[in-house]
Amino acid sequence: MFHLNENYLTLSESYLFSEIAHRVSAHAQAHPQQKLIRMGIGDVTRPLCPCVVSALQSAAAEQGSAATFRGYGPEQGYDFLRERIRAYYAARGVLLEADEIFVSDGAKSDLGNILDLFSRENRVLIPDPVYPVYVDTNRMEGRPIVFADATEENGFLPLPDETLEADLIYLCSPNNPTGAVYDRAQLQQWVDYANERGAVILFDAAYEAFVVDPALPRSIFELPGAETCAIEFCSFSKTAGFTGTRCGYTVVPHALVRQGVQLGRLWLRRQTTKFNGVSYLVQRGAEAALSDEGLRQIQENLSYYRANAAVITCALDTLGIRYTGGKNSPYVWLRCPDGMRSWDFFDLLLQQAGVVGTPGAGFGANGEGHFRLTAFSTREATEEAMQRLKTLLG
Ligand code: PLP
Repeated sequence: MFHLNENYLTLSESYLFSEIAHRVSAHAQAHPQQKLIRMGIGDVTRPLCPCVVSALQSAAAEQGSAATFRGYGPEQGYDFLRERIRAYYAARGVLLEADEIFVSDGAKSDLGNILDLFSRENRVLIPDPVYPVYVDTNRMEGRPIVFADATEENGFLPLPDETLEADLIYLCSPNNPTGAVYDRAQLQQWVDYANERGAVILFDAAYEAFVVDPALPRSIFELPGAETCAIEFCSFSKTAGFTGTRCGYTVVPHALVRQGVQLGRLWLRRQTTKFNGVSYLVQRGAEAALSDEGLRQIQENLSYYRANAAVITCALDTLGIRYTGGKNSPYVWLRCPDGMRSWDFFDLLLQQAGVVGTPGAGFGANGEGHFRLTAFSTREATEEAMQRLKTLLG
């Protein structure tokens, strides 16, 4: 008899962003004259930098000539890109082998696909609030989830304690949605916990490029002992504007061994079976983003977003609203004014100011009463949105 994967039936009906889209479109229909400003979805607005565009064009020309045409590439990524990523880490003192790096079409796919390696019996620890993908991908496989409270009291950075029993631990720093960033001492506590218990940390570093404070870690592998307990997921999406171009990578150290097996070998086996690699063009574009000139050019875009974040935090400071993030992160996580619930604040902001943000409750129970704004809009839109916020709440 045919059987569905009934775990899918336990997923919540509507993904957060579809509910937002639904409310926004109803509002836009009722008020067609009002210009809406979107400060919610975490997509970038700056175009690809010139040296990436020119690398994509050259690669397209190579693919159009019989002498330079390339068919299937290595599933785990071309050497030229893995070497470039290796150098990107080495510049920060993190020494990797090229074959510890696996290139993919983005962090989201890898974060979901990595679960192929782990038994359903593992106890999964996920912070709350959180990027919803960690929760849903585990629910799809029926794995038990324990939530770690990320609250104002702990600066939205939960830490391990004696009572905690977890085999797989998700950490995201800089965090989506709270913008909070673990410092070295805090992250070391997780590394030590995982090594003592034989747990594995899934470290999401999608926003590492936003860290400006040199005291804060951008990679978990900056910490001693991480190579025996952590896998790191990273992406060109926010670093280099690749949300629509698609490229990311996952680092699985050779020293990460469980039950006598290197997890990197299993991941290679998984990828070579179920994945056929990222397009040659895109990998050339990603390589260019990490060249000296590319790094300089992507910094211009990152600085642009950082300045947007400063516009947001400045407005919140003026209004006396508490928030985290915005300093080493493109996300600003604020406490809703007057004790409002997050969907109520969403509706108020939409209806009275025509500004769209993301209600914290959509990221987990602890997100209730909070709200996420992002720095990825244009400067003009960010300034206008903050002006409207000040008029509404000032
Ligand atoms: N991880 C986090 C925390 C994110 O916020 C996102 C995208 O918003 C991703 C991963 C997905 O990145 P990618 O575009 O590389 O799939």
